Amino acid sequence: MAAPWRDMVRDAAAVREAAAVAVDSALLAGVLMRTGEQPHASDVVNYAPFTLLPSAVPRALFEQAYAVQQDFNLLVDAISQNKEFLEQTLASTIKVDDFTARLFRIYMQVLEEGLAQTVFLGINRSDYMFDCGLDGTAALRQIEINTIAASFGGLTSRTADVHRLVLKVLGKAEEASHLLPNNPAKGLALGIAKAWELYGSQRAVVMFLVEEVQRNIFDQRCVENELWSRNIRVIRRRFRDVFEQGSLDASRRLYMDGQEVAVVYYREGYVPQNYDQQNWEARLLLERSRAVKCPDIATQLAGTKKVQQELSRPGTLEKLLPGCPEAVARMRATFAGLYSLDEGEEGDRIAATAIADPDRFVLKPQREGGGNNLYGEELRQVLEKIKDSPERTSYILMDKIKPQPALNYLLRAHSPLQVSECISELGIFGVYVRQGQELVLNQAAGHLLRTKAIEHADGGVAAGVAVLDTPYLV
Ligand code: ADP
Ligand code: MG
Repeated sequence: MAAPWRDMVRDAAAVREAAAVAVDSALLAGVLMRTGEQPHASDVVNYAPFTLLPSAVPRALFEQAYAVQQDFNLLVDAISQNKEFLEQTLASTIKVDDFTARLFRIYMQVLEEGLAQTVFLGINRSDYMFDCGLDGTAALRQIEINTIAASFGGLTSRTADVHRLVLKVLGKAEEASHLLPNNPAKGLALGIAKAWELYGSQRAVVMFLVEEVQRNIFDQRCVENELWSRNIRVIRRRFRDVFEQGSLDASRRLYMDGQEVAVVYYREGYVPQNYDQQNWEARLLLERSRAVKCPDIATQLAGTKKVQQELSRPGTLEKLLPGCPEAVARMRATFAGLYSLDEGEEGDRIAATAIADPDRFVLKPQREGGGNNLYGEELRQVLEKIKDSPERTSYILMDKIKPQPALNYLLRAHSPLQVSECISELGIFGVYVRQGQELVLNQAAGHLLRTKAIEHADGGVAAGVAVLDTPYLV
């Protein structure tokens, strides 16, 4: 991949000057996060980490990622309505993974009672890396689809302006003019607003279900503000608040302290640490309600690593989306090799291959949020230990993607300015709304580029590893 700024990354004086402008302009633009030291305070904040320079992204792969997003929206929506597929696919996982099992139990319970919810809203982000082939050409490879709490659609809408200014400071005004506008927050809000409207109660509110510690609150505020500008009321509540104050009426309308809730937008609830017994009860109450959950529990399950692995089996996509061969082909073209570690010959074989050659693979548990995957020597040791136990079925194996690194500066508060070899991950936001069986909205809503130094195998922006970036198409 071309490195468009090769001439300037080594010019220390120019870089220092540009970095100072970049940080101030990020603060002005609202690329903000609460600090680790005072995670509950909004009066002591800092900039969210970002790259000094926009990173090169091959235009063709960028366009390919956008072009396949509506297909992935359709696919996730189809999986969420396919009980047989979810049941079969997750059968082995829920025997050994307690978190997935608890989600699955709620899923079965709400199906048995019968769904009160009739409007469905999906907000997802499909993430990709650019795999560098032996001949140097890059290919788009999907890392995963996040079907719950996909973040940074707000902050990223503000990074392009910062990078535009940085390029101008560095004498690249022409290049600056090519950076694309991008506003995922607006697209996400459009979906939430549509779901709110179809729910059909003017007085009802949108509830953001938020964490106890909300360091990334400004990202969420971007979406909230878009809703307020459409005169839709937004409230922020935690699971604990729902447990204490949430209730359903006879027709399972959801009320929070007397206010009817039309849409529940989860920005939490995707890792076991988000739940204690009360929070599980709150989750069940929300899922039983008529409110539009984004996502409903079925859609959350559709985003598990185990489901992703099953999708890569020949014939699975065709079964899930019959009559859509073009969509199937577009999606499959982005898949990396994925392998089941279920008990049996197939699992034995791939486990042995990975133990012999761990650098070819990534070992993934059923977890979200970064920092959970295993690589290299650690992968080998763990797999060696669990290869003959049922525990291995709680993981999947994936081919390791190997992108071409490029030099950049990762700007982080309280960190020295130093050049790093970096790789990037592109995310495309998707949003869709379904009323009964009719899909009334299906769109790509914008993009997110995150970049990290190559010494970190894993971890996102929230985990302190990756930083926000802007694609520069080449
Ligand atoms: P999570 O749900 O924790 O975000 P991901 O599947 O997105 O899990 O993996 C986390 C990070 O690990 C990714 O952002 C990426 O940097 C790295 N990663 C994941 N899968 C691969 C892969 N197949 N090859 C190389 N790196 C990967
Ligand atoms: Mg991820």
